Amino acid sequence: MPYTHILVAVDLTEECDPVIHRAREIAQGSGAKLSMVHIVEPMAMAFGGDVPMDLSQLQQQQFDQAKERMERLKLKYPELSGANAHMTYGQPRQEIHDLAKTDGCDLIVVGSHGRHGLALLLGSTANDVLHGAPCDVLAVRLITKK
Ligand code: AMP
Repeated sequence: MPYTHILVAVDLTEECDPVIHRAREIAQGSGAKLSMVHIVEPMAMAFGGDVPMDLSQLQQQQFDQAKERMERLKLKYPELSGANAHMTYGQPRQEIHDLAKTDGCDLIVVGSHGRHGLALLLGSTANDVLHGAPCDVLAVRLITKK
């Protein structure tokens, strides 16, 4: 059965281009719809939830920066704009799974690594997304530049 709706998860680093290219190839080959998602992780969550300072300004900057990078990606990949581009706050695994479920996606595409690097692959988002996924998951192998 060909895929009908593919969700590509982007971390907004330069590593996301090969991941998008692969997702796009599969979508074109199977006539599937393609959507992308970026999750902005709440800073308090990244720091373990117990930070004795006000992170709201930093959080806003992080969100604005992510929004700007998303806009650049949308210009580069016009098929990934409008209703096909999602940005939410939360924990990547949870948000990616929820979106895949509500949008009826049958394939999630992630990079084998991204911000956390190859050394942390086992603890990476790719590994996280795989566990309990509501559909197939493809981890696009990314070669780290030395
Ligand atoms: P990492 O866990 O940072 O090594 O990232 C592995 C892959 O997970 C990336 O190549 C992306 O496809 C995906 N990913 C990581 N962080 C996010 C995020 N915040 N939002 C969406 N996808 C992400």
